[in-house]
Amino acid sequence: MIIGVLSMQGDIREHIKMLDACGVEAVRVKTEETLTNVDGLIIPGGESTTIIRLLNSSGLRSLLIRRANEGLPVWGTCAGMIVVAKSPINNRDRGLGLIDIQVKRNAFGRQVDSFEVDIPLDVIGKPPYRCIFIRAPVISNAGKNVELLAQHNGFAVMGKERNVLVTSFHPELTNDKRIHKYFINMVKKYIESHEKLNT
Ligand code: GLN
Repeated sequence: MIIGVLSMQGDIREHIKMLDACGVEAVRVKTEETLTNVDGLIIPGGESTTIIRLLNSSGLRSLLIRRANEGLPVWGTCAGMIVVAKSPINNRDRGLGLIDIQVKRNAFGRQVDSFEVDIPLDVIGKPPYRCIFIRAPVISNAGKNVELLAQHNGFAVMGKERNVLVTSFHPELTNDKRIHKYFINMVKKYIESHEKLNT
């Protein structure tokens, strides 16, 4: 199993470290060749406008959309969640539309740009997960096939639709591997289903 971390901009290193700690081979994805070879992809936090522009100019946009539509597990954290959403990022840039959600950027306001809070997450069980929010977006609207997996102050902050997972917060900045393991499990299932198709 090889999991890629989209390496345009943002907290790439932290995700790689976390995947290493989980015992999974991690690669930086900057080219079509590496994107073709991964079994799952994480789009990190950072600045969504920068990530989407680099994704467009590198030519990776259409390959990423194609692979995600074919079932490649993709996980967007914070800015990564904005990148994979359906909603426009600003007047000029559009998200990839990999998951049927609209997001609101910087939803928690400037006065609380960053904060940490423990949130119970059924998908990973007890204890509650320490969620780190940094100028975080929220899910403001979700299609009927999107499972909303966590909430904070009435805002949806984690969701999943088929092979696409999103979190408003930054699991790579904690020492708690449970959400990375949850994604690794999605990747395992994807590999198994492909093996079945090919036998
Ligand atoms: N506010 C940033 C954006 O809109 C996201 C912040 C983050 O990824 N920590 O792209």
